Amino acid sequence: MKTEILKAVPESLDKAAWYLKNGEIVAIPTETVYGLAGNGLSASSVKKIFEAKGRPADNPLILHIADIGSLYEYAENVPELALKLAEKFWAGSLTMIMKKKDTVPLETSGGLDTVAFRMPNNIWTLQLIKKCGFPLAAPSANLSGLPSPTCAEHVFRDMNEKIPLIIDGGQCKCGLESTVITFIDNGVKILRPGAVTPEMLSEFCEVTVDKSVTEGLSDKCKAASPGMKYKHYSPKAEVYLIECDSKDKFVDFVNENSDDNTYILSDFTEKIKAHILPYGETPNKEATELFSSLRKADDMGAKKIYVKAPSKKGIGLAVYNRLIRAAAFKVIKL
Ligand code: AMP
Ligand code: MG
Repeated sequence: MKTEILKAVPESLDKAAWYLKNGEIVAIPTETVYGLAGNGLSASSVKKIFEAKGRPADNPLILHIADIGSLYEYAENVPELALKLAEKFWAGSLTMIMKKKDTVPLETSGGLDTVAFRMPNNIWTLQLIKKCGFPLAAPSANLSGLPSPTCAEHVFRDMNEKIPLIIDGGQCKCGLESTVITFIDNGVKILRPGAVTPEMLSEFCEVTVDKSVTEGLSDKCKAASPGMKYKHYSPKAEVYLIECDSKDKFVDFVNENSDDNTYILSDFTEKIKAHILPYGETPNKEATELFSSLRKADDMGAKKIYVKAPSKKGIGLAVYNRLIRAAAFKVIKL
């Protein structure tokens, strides 16, 4: 199958809607990362998503909707708090898990009786959902395990000849996947951190952060969010997360432990004797650039990548969560 890349304009949305209505899957831009979309109410479309990504069937998909009212078509007992949070954070990077109605096939929810919802903040994708008239199930449009795609070119590399169409909406503004929350007694629990931070949510309710966000799960432990149990976001190179309290310590460590194939992601360059991939000076820029820098390191033939661990405050928690998985939990404490 030839994979076409079309700029996001009304005519290409018509083409995407045609494919989607005919049970095909296409890649779509969102503000978080590019999604691999199919009709979320069609078991056969959803199966194509799992196949193209090589995604384990028990890792549920997020349903992308274009208006808050759609929740009532696909979720039972929509919590009051969900509506409050939707009004504040949608369209945006907040995904909320609720009990699913039978209108949603078990293939979409990975066999669970709950399903995740998000309204993406991208005008093209919102228009596309409206044109289709059904919610789009859309995980990140990468091969399972690789860094998520933040531009159409990344999607093409992973999905060429597997899907008919990529809608090119430019660079993703956020660059990390959405915050995933579930509702508990008196508030919410964060299963995956994203641009909607614990600090932002705590203005509305009590917020707890699931242990799996910053730690590996033991084999016996059941994952609240099935996606969190898989190695994830990893380039081919070995990634090491370096936890230390000063830039100097990090530089000394890198200089003593680097060879020709060692790269670091860094916003500073002084005194470093390894290859440097530029990486944001601010936590938001780190989020935007993380996945593309990891992919770039692979393109340049990196064998080893060192990254200084970010602070776990604000969006830093999301960057830390992706990095520790990219590093397969290899953390070096200095
Ligand atoms: P992705 O679409 O690749 O960004 O991944 C979606 C994330 O949401 C994965 O980590 C899933 O495990 C999580 N998720 C989706 N639906 C549910 C659900 N019903 N219960 C728990 N986690 C979910
Ligand atoms: Mg993903």
